[in-house]
Amino acid sequence: MTDNLTYIDVAVALPVYNTYTYAVPGSLLPFAAVGKRVLIPFKRRKVTGYILDINYKTDLKEIKLILDILDDEPLFPPAMIPFFIWIADYYIHPVGEVIKCALPGGLNIYDYITISISKKGKKALEKKIATTVEKEILNLLKEESFRLRDLGRKLKKETPMALLYSMKDRGWIISKRKLKGGRTRPLMERYVSLKTPCPPCERLSVQRKMIVDILKTESDISVKNLKTRVPSALRLIKPLEKTGHISIFQKRAYRDPFGDAIEADESLHLTPEQKTAVSKVADSLGKGYAAYLLAGVTGSGKTEVYMQLASKAIKKGCCVLVLIPEIALISQMERRFRARFGECVAVLHSGLSAGERYDQWLRIARKEVKIALGARSAVFSPFPDIGLIIVDEEHDTSYKQEGNLRYNARDLAVVRAKLNGAIALLGSATPSIESYYNVKAEKYTELNLKNRVEKRPLPEIKIVDLRKSRGKRGFRRFITPELYEGMNQALSHGEQVLLFLNRRGFASYPVCGICGEAVKCKNCDISLTLHRKSNAYKCHYCGFTMASASNCRSCDSNKIIQLGLGTEKVEAVVADLFPDAGIKRMDRDTTTRKGSIVKLLKDLKKGNIDILVGTQMVTKGHDFPNITLVGIICADLSLNFPDFRAGERTFQLLAQVAGRAGRGDIPGRVILQTYNPDHYSIIAARDQDFKSFYKTEIGFRKALNYPPFSRMIQLKISGKDKKMTGQHAQILGDLCRTVQVSNQYFLKTVQILGPIEASIPRIARRYRWQILLKSMGAKPLHKFIRKIMLKNNVYFNNRYIKVVVDVDPFFMM
Ligand code: ADP
Ligand code: ZN
Ligand code: ZN
Repeated sequence: MTDNLTYIDVAVALPVYNTYTYAVPGSLLPFAAVGKRVLIPFKRRKVTGYILDINYKTDLKEIKLILDILDDEPLFPPAMIPFFIWIADYYIHPVGEVIKCALPGGLNIYDYITISISKKGKKALEKKIATTVEKEILNLLKEESFRLRDLGRKLKKETPMALLYSMKDRGWIISKRKLKGGRTRPLMERYVSLKTPCPPCERLSVQRKMIVDILKTESDISVKNLKTRVPSALRLIKPLEKTGHISIFQKRAYRDPFGDAIEADESLHLTPEQKTAVSKVADSLGKGYAAYLLAGVTGSGKTEVYMQLASKAIKKGCCVLVLIPEIALISQMERRFRARFGECVAVLHSGLSAGERYDQWLRIARKEVKIALGARSAVFSPFPDIGLIIVDEEHDTSYKQEGNLRYNARDLAVVRAKLNGAIALLGSATPSIESYYNVKAEKYTELNLKNRVEKRPLPEIKIVDLRKSRGKRGFRRFITPELYEGMNQALSHGEQVLLFLNRRGFASYPVCGICGEAVKCKNCDISLTLHRKSNAYKCHYCGFTMASASNCRSCDSNKIIQLGLGTEKVEAVVADLFPDAGIKRMDRDTTTRKGSIVKLLKDLKKGNIDILVGTQMVTKGHDFPNITLVGIICADLSLNFPDFRAGERTFQLLAQVAGRAGRGDIPGRVILQTYNPDHYSIIAARDQDFKSFYKTEIGFRKALNYPPFSRMIQLKISGKDKKMTGQHAQILGDLCRTVQVSNQYFLKTVQILGPIEASIPRIARRYRWQILLKSMGAKPLHKFIRKIMLKNNVYFNNRYIKVVVDVDPFFMM
């Protein structure tokens, strides 16, 4: 090979498990950098890859040249490569696809770039120093500026991106990135501050003197805020400016998700418990990897702990990553962080447009911000170095990504902390069994906040036995007298009520009154749910809908009985019972439109809603001081799932929703209706006592050898043909067993369960089978699955049957 070529390691965004070496031609060399995308020839195709490494030597022969370099600046720092490789290894996923998943979606930012010619470019044309292609481009641009993606069409040939970068570098062309949908204009607010030196104040009126005194203690204050302390301020500031006492100026204000400006705030005075937690973690900041579990009851002020630690980390020069499970919560958290940290916060979540997300991504990569805040995919934030990673509500199942790269962001946060020598701080009122087990195993350090701030009591939780209502008719079956009374009381005091039922729709179990056949989905083995508002039966798994006037499919009768309960029915019933109350529902049906969650939360905050009915959406982390009563309509829905985590989910859901009550000055109450009043999950939720829950649950896990005592990989096999899918599952099962019996190590370490038909045997017309691999540790499992996949790639990459490898599975049905 010639010596003056440079070689790069490229990860290809295709289902291939290796990385590849390519050569960079001299013309592209100045633009090659780790973290940029390249266009490469790959098996007669042109595909995108990512530069992982740059070398000046190679022993390989016949190396192909790359075609182009696609990015202006690196999308991720070299420090992240070990992280990507770890993920690829652990989740058994091609590293190029890992990177593709990690990068912000819709990276086709060319759409938004417009290019134009500069003065220098025009000169270059006159002086005839441009090459033929460059000249063609400049001549086109002289006529008009246009979008970068139109260049190829106008030029009638492809131009390498690198050529454009080089022209940009020489100052011949100017490129401007435009955001789709446009940016929201920054909000400005009027502020006042004291003039120094300040003229004498003796002759000022009392009111004016008050303003001056306030400004003596605060460096500046918004006029809006000042008005709350001196009501006549609006009239007085102009004259005070004239007399030279104060100056009035405009300052950039951040908006909260409700569109209001965010007032800057300062650190709160910590409670003793908060103080201990902060100082323990702060002591280890910058001293290498350590992991903490912050177990703090609902309303104990975990966010304040996060913010004060973030501030300490920033002072030490570190960047901070904050993960939050839900978009709705992100906006709340964003508001608090912006109030404290202002400009230096970047936010990443799916509610942003592609352009906005790319913008935020680059701000992080360039280290223009110190804090990145976002949902699970923010774990990939391209900070070159990180000092602190916070995972709020660490137990939340939305950290688990289903589909494509199946990862758990909570676990990855800990891995990333470890690789970066950073601190991982996991926080929750209801820690996951896995995380608390890690405390017991001394992998994590436990921090406790046992009390709510300001000595607010935890809500009093009353269990009501639904079995008493079995014979009752109509609404009395699920609105017990206790709940009715409680609602009456709260509403008459002008307080708000939250009703929780973890199922949407009107009736979840429609049955034929003549032949007894359930109304089922055409594509799934699952009952349809009646949605009265849209006059239709809907499938919650595949989206299939059918007119609500449909007859029984089996006997054609039109007498369908609408059994089963959902939030829509609860809403309707409550509207009948409390005709004067403002009632809203918050579930996936009412929040499909962008901004609808925020609108609901805003109405709740303003007091426009008296009763909010909702699914698990309402359980998560929200802080609404005027909710004094939480009614749990039926606590048992998640208890009967065929899943070893059913007890844990139930406990977490109930304890979390109960925690929404009494977060203000008035103590809260919870009425918990259940058919299983003696179940340990329910009792522990009543006592808000995750440790007692843990004690019972961990016993079961141990006896049945479930995680955290074992590790699991689930093979999810699905296909459109019933027989073929079953056969494929059998072949894979046989394969697993053959590999196992031929190897003493696997015989001792790996357990194979299945293949069995999934507990929902058909979803969206695909038949579903499963094989579960279990072992005491992750290592034997990984060795085992790799051995099987390497040898039998055809069974995993099949046109007719999809086989998914789910490491540490969550959704097991
Ligand atoms: P958690 O996340 O633990 O449920 P939050 O962080 O939402 O609780 O805090 C609950 C409320 O208590 C918030 O309104 C917060 O501003 C307030 N708070 C937190 N810490 C303090 C403190 N040290 N002093 C006064 N109020 C506090
Ligand atoms: Zn029938
Ligand atoms: Zn369906």
